[in-house]
Amino acid sequence: MTTVSRARPSARCRALLALLSDYIDGMLPAGQLDLVETHCLGCDRCRRMVSSLRRTVALCRAAGRTPMPTAAERRARARVRTLLEHVDADKPPGPRRRRNT
Ligand SMILES: [Zn+2]
Repeated sequence: MTTVSRARPSARCRALLALLSDYIDGMLPAGQLDLVETHCLGCDRCRRMVSSLRRTVALCRAAGRTPMPTAAERRARARVRTLLEHVDADKPPGPRRRRNT
């Protein structure tokens, strides 16, 4: 049997995709874990998907642990405040400005 996965993912690959998130998190029960690992051994597409997902998750976790620089946080807060003020100020009693976009 040859495994050429150049076209769209097979039904098996698509079924596997549903399990990948739990797989990356190490939450899969043994039976499904075997299923994913066995499939990835023979399927280049899914193997690549798993490794890129792993990388993404690792980056997200690393980013979540890194505190935001104080200056950036201050700017972000100021921006949100400005936006909120703008929303309040943007409700004038009568139509004064028209948007010409
Ligand atoms: Zn696959």
